[in-house]
Amino acid sequence: MQAHAHAAASQTIGNSNALGAAPVAGDAPFYAAQGSECALFAHCFDQQLPLLIKGPTGCGKTRFVEHMAARLARPLITVSCHDDLSAADLVGRHLIGQGNTVWADGPLTRAVREGAILYLDEVVEARKDTTVVLHPLADDRRLLPIERTGELLKAPPEFMLVISYNPGYQNLLKGLKPSTRQRFTALALDYPAPAVERAILEREGHASPALAARLVQLAQALRRLTDHDLEETASTRLLVMAARLVASGLPLREACRAAVIEALTDDTETLLALNEVVRAVVGDDN
Ligand code: ADP
Repeated sequence: MQAHAHAAASQTIGNSNALGAAPVAGDAPFYAAQGSECALFAHCFDQQLPLLIKGPTGCGKTRFVEHMAARLARPLITVSCHDDLSAADLVGRHLIGQGNTVWADGPLTRAVREGAILYLDEVVEARKDTTVVLHPLADDRRLLPIERTGELLKAPPEFMLVISYNPGYQNLLKGLKPSTRQRFTALALDYPAPAVERAILEREGHASPALAARLVQLAQALRRLTDHDLEETASTRLLVMAARLVASGLPLREACRAAVIEALTDDTETLLALNEVVRAVVGDDN
């Protein structure tokens, strides 16, 4: 399990005015909004409602949560969920020391005690027993029972639970249960609109306006491909990586192959087809 704590930004958005109209904290990580998601997040925080963010990999979910945590001046604890992640990993466990046992809070318990924002990335990957601890926290009880210590923690108003998942990966068995989904407000993110994506590439990938436009054009062409069995398509993350390689001096075609095409498939025929798309959009002399 990976849990990362992020320092909070110093500026807060006032309680009743947490609506996105307030200025962005100077040191909040850059996030280019797709729509009104910042206001929605702030409203959820204000109303103590948990949030589910759906969207394909690399479309900006994590960056969005980092940005909002900084704007709301809350610490952020991120857990990347995997199929071995259990309720005990989230809540905590007794550790055996020299002759005695000491209780160690897990990231969920720490977030509740500190009034932090807890972000569970790819939550459907986690073991099913994690829902037992998430349910009473996600509904209006906002309680975390810690069975092993007998504690019952009431989440402070500043605590917020945010989960994400990628509907594209899911099969029927792995979807979120309705009883879990219905405890969360939900937000769907997708790849940003072309103008927003170009701005991201200029800022994050140090791309010139012309390069940003070309890469977004490539992404659009790749995203239109439906006759290949691709599990995922070109994400904003991959475009940022391609832009960075170009900024560092790699020819554009090579950067697209290394950062975008090879990441999408291992299948030789599909690779050829994707390379054709790159050639058509980027040209031969790059
Ligand atoms: P996800 O969590 O959806 O997999 P990330 O938030 O990690 O995706 O985004 C991947 C990268 O793409 C980020 O590190 C950032 O460089 C860039 N990015 C994607 N969307 C945005 C956005 N809306 N604003 C700023 N950067 C973005």
